[in-house]
Amino acid sequence: MQIFREIASIQKFIIEQKTAGIKVGLVPTMGALHQGHISLVEKSLHQTSLTVVSIFVNPIQFNNPTDLRKYPQTFESDVALLEASGCHAVFKPSADEMYPFPVQLKMDFGELDKILEGKFRPGHFSGVGIVVAKLFNIIRPDVAYFGQKDYQQFRVIQKLIDDLSFPVELVGGEIIREPDGLAMSSRNKRLSAEARKTASVIFQSLLNAKKNLPEKKLEDVRIEVEKMLQQKGLRLEYLELADRRTLAVLQHFDANIPSVLLIAAYMGEVRLIDNMLV
Ligand code: AMP
Repeated sequence: MQIFREIASIQKFIIEQKTAGIKVGLVPTMGALHQGHISLVEKSLHQTSLTVVSIFVNPIQFNNPTDLRKYPQTFESDVALLEASGCHAVFKPSADEMYPFPVQLKMDFGELDKILEGKFRPGHFSGVGIVVAKLFNIIRPDVAYFGQKDYQQFRVIQKLIDDLSFPVELVGGEIIREPDGLAMSSRNKRLSAEARKTASVIFQSLLNAKKNLPEKKLEDVRIEVEKMLQQKGLRLEYLELADRRTLAVLQHFDANIPSVLLIAAYMGEVRLIDNMLV
């Protein structure tokens, strides 16, 4: 597995590969890898001939400086995991390599980045859009892999691809969970062993909400989720029901609209998100 730290060197490598007709798959990550990331790598290995994983904790997508400072960095074990998976190349640029000049560009995804995560993390999706556009320009992937764990992000990336005509196919991967249901996340590494166990209440509360939605008012379902979390010491930031395709936030459950429940909650100072199709 080759490790690249410079844009110019990976670009040279990619051009050689693409000239030889190799199909390139890209899995963008922020590192602290787990099985959720590896499931995307495996998809790429299956569907393309050259799998590139980028590892970059993108400063411009963090609205909370503490979250950025404390974001887990485990490069050595990431490399070991990727080697074992059969991944071909890693791109691990520094922040200076990616952003030699202060970034002035902003991306606006309309309503899509004003709701849910966008509402609570202003500027987040602009930062995500910019880094992904840069990665697309650097790696020139034929296929890019993103997880459904970040459900809204997936929609944002599809819009980015459509609006800017990137010749990239977007492929999604289902949410990979711990045995107790907690969605795998790099931020789980910041939890104590006890908090990590407790955090599975997020998944339990989603299951409970999904079960109750057809019979109860959405507002009552929300109150129940909040209580379930509170009892375990977590703080609900939002629970929303949204149209699966447009992500428009729904005020009522409607069995005829394919929808998704999306949640964000704090366990201590660690912010966790999850979602469940309804
Ligand atoms: P991150 O490193 O958190 O930015 O995530 C990199 C990619 O992995 C994103 O496309 C995420 O949606 C995806 N991902 C993260 N956690 C999971 C998970 N538990 N299951 C599936 N995909 C995931």
